Amino acid sequence: MANSQDRLPPASGEAWHMRVTEALASISDAVYFLDAEDRFTWVNSAAERLLSHPAAALVGRTVWDVFPDLRGTELEDVYRRARETREVQEVSLFSRPLDRWLGGWIHPGRGQDLVVFFRDVHERRALDEERAAESSLIRAVLNALPSRTAILDADGTILTTNAAWAASSASHGRPLAGDGANYLDACRAASAAGVPGARVVVDGLEAVFAGRVQSFSVDYASSAPDGRGMQPSWWHLQAFPVDDKPRVVVTHTDITDRVTAEQRAAWQARHDHLTSLPNRTALYEAIAEALAGDDSGRVTVLYMDIDGFKQVNDSLGHSSGDLLLRELASRLAHRTRPTDVVGRLGGDEFVVVAHDCDAEGGEALARRFHGVFDEPFELAGTRLPLTVSIGIAASDPVHTEPEDLLRDADAAMYAAKVNGPNQHQVFTPALRTQLDDRWQIASRLRDAASTGEFAVHWQPVVHLRSGEVTGCEALLRWNHPQRGLIQPAEFIPIAEENGLIVPITRWLLQSTVAQGVIWAREGLDLEIAVNISAVHLASGTLVDDVLGAVADSGLPPRKLMIELTETSLARDPDQATEQFAALRKQGVRIAIDDFGTGYSSLSAVASLPVDVLKIDRSLVTGPGPNGAAAPAAILGAVSALGAALDMQVLAEGVETRAQVELARRVGCTYAQGFHLSRPVVAGQVTALLEEGRRRTGKQTLPQGRAST
Ligand code: C2E
Ligand code: CA
Ligand code: CA
Repeated sequence: MANSQDRLPPASGEAWHMRVTEALASISDAVYFLDAEDRFTWVNSAAERLLSHPAAALVGRTVWDVFPDLRGTELEDVYRRARETREVQEVSLFSRPLDRWLGGWIHPGRGQDLVVFFRDVHERRALDEERAAESSLIRAVLNALPSRTAILDADGTILTTNAAWAASSASHGRPLAGDGANYLDACRAASAAGVPGARVVVDGLEAVFAGRVQSFSVDYASSAPDGRGMQPSWWHLQAFPVDDKPRVVVTHTDITDRVTAEQRAAWQARHDHLTSLPNRTALYEAIAEALAGDDSGRVTVLYMDIDGFKQVNDSLGHSSGDLLLRELASRLAHRTRPTDVVGRLGGDEFVVVAHDCDAEGGEALARRFHGVFDEPFELAGTRLPLTVSIGIAASDPVHTEPEDLLRDADAAMYAAKVNGPNQHQVFTPALRTQLDDRWQIASRLRDAASTGEFAVHWQPVVHLRSGEVTGCEALLRWNHPQRGLIQPAEFIPIAEENGLIVPITRWLLQSTVAQGVIWAREGLDLEIAVNISAVHLASGTLVDDVLGAVADSGLPPRKLMIELTETSLARDPDQATEQFAALRKQGVRIAIDDFGTGYSSLSAVASLPVDVLKIDRSLVTGPGPNGAAAPAAILGAVSALGAALDMQVLAEGVETRAQVELARRVGCTYAQGFHLSRPVVAGQVTALLEEGRRRTGKQTLPQGRAST
């Protein structure tokens, strides 16, 4: 009804009236004319059908006569309003008889006349209602979305936004204020301004608008403030077309919590939780990166292990140990260049990856790290003097894998540890061979006692004044099935390192005291001497192990002597004192072995409760012709010391008759050495002493060398 909004032109005679009614008669809208009293004056055929009355039944009668029900309805009001305002009135009516909705336009005509159009709007109204319901559903859905959402027109203009969008305080997480603004343009502007990630968003959106892709999504960081202070937030942007215009829905979901959690997890996966230093994974990466990236190709790895950290942990508790590790981490971090990476592998093991650094540089760095320990660590009111062992491995063309470099540095650290505390060692291929060897020995050593591969050799001890053999020192040998006879110097240190020395010595004590009992039964009066490691002394089981072996065998305790080296005693004289006292109380005798080589303080040794000083072979043999002190002077001095302290003195390693004579002259009580007898198996000891008895009538060696 194109002309429904227009007022009808003023009438100009019958002819015009004819033309209008002719035109109106054939249109599909219902049309009727009313006079000032609401009487029908003209009705078209559509109106006849709509009103269900022929024109003859209508014309001349008032609306209210024909349709009394309409009295008092809105229709009466709009008729009046059209006459008063002289403006077209619109009305929607539900016709009960027709059971349909009608739309009406009431035009003021000549004077108080009205021209009324009616049309069946039932279908359209139903559609409108449906649409309205649909759009309110869409609105409800939009508003229910927690993501900030906008619907964009084909050119990027924002058509509508949801409640979440409106609620977002600033421009955060979305580039625009709201309806009417152009989203796409704003993104383009951000891209032009160099906002990180904006380019990707623009490209993605353009692809969606152009229909090149079905949808587009991207995660981006925003540093705009949004209630998180200056913390950056993370957003997941998703765009997809809603129809083929295309209109596009853009959603912005806050994924900050998820991203932060992921970032935290990723960080934790690569860092040590105690010190926050890079962990093994991160260190591998750092080494790989350094190997790949360094122009010089020189990367050096330092592997550090605190000496005796286990004791700190055991004695002061784990929380103190943790404090110490944290303190150390911070000290190390301050001693490296910014390009170097300090990490922790776990326990007390730290690793430094030094860029552009060779082995020599690594050694310089190692010295610097030793210096880190110069100042003692303060823990629970205790000042702890600590040291560190450092292994150094520098990259070379062979080192392709980070693991190799780390493994070699570890091996070098291990070698440094063997050399004593506070050492560093540069890795060499020879060191690897040595270590493999040690490892093989260690793994076999574990079972050597049970498989009967150990043998004990005995070296007679001669009492110098009487020439009698008063004792025998047990010296361990290992009959390795592949390598043959292995000397103790080769395997004892390995056994000490692995803690195997304690069970081995336990076995040794059992079998040696058993041999002592056999000899006693054979009528031989011999004191059994057994070498004890410092590790055993520190283990705390020494007293029980020794007394246990003696008690089980029936050997009188005074027939057993244990030997500990001067060096091993110097480390912790107090610990030795207690255990020695407990053993001596039961009659067991104690000797200090290799005396004169340990640089121990005389006062410390003098205060130890021991019975015998065994003067080391190097002092008995003496230095070469240009040597400083002659053996005579030293042996004399030690003998005098022994006499003063009420200890007996034994000269070890006498290889000549002159040395035996010298030992006797300066007042040594005993001597032992190849000149008297090499270490031999037990049966040979018996044979030798029986032969000696036959010749001299005493318990001597057959040659009776000591007395000649
Ligand atoms: P040690 O306790 O000082 O033992 C004496 C070493 O000197 C023995 O070497 C012995 O064979 C050697 N020896 C004796 N007289 C002479 C001599 O006149 N000239 C020379 N050149 N050497 C002589 P061995 O058996 O190779 O033992 C070496 C070291 O291994 C021992 O030194 C001891 O420290 C250790 N050891 C041996 N057996 C055991 C054991 O059962 N337990 C422990 N913890 N250590 C042991
Ligand atoms: Ca010894
Ligand atoms: Ca010795």
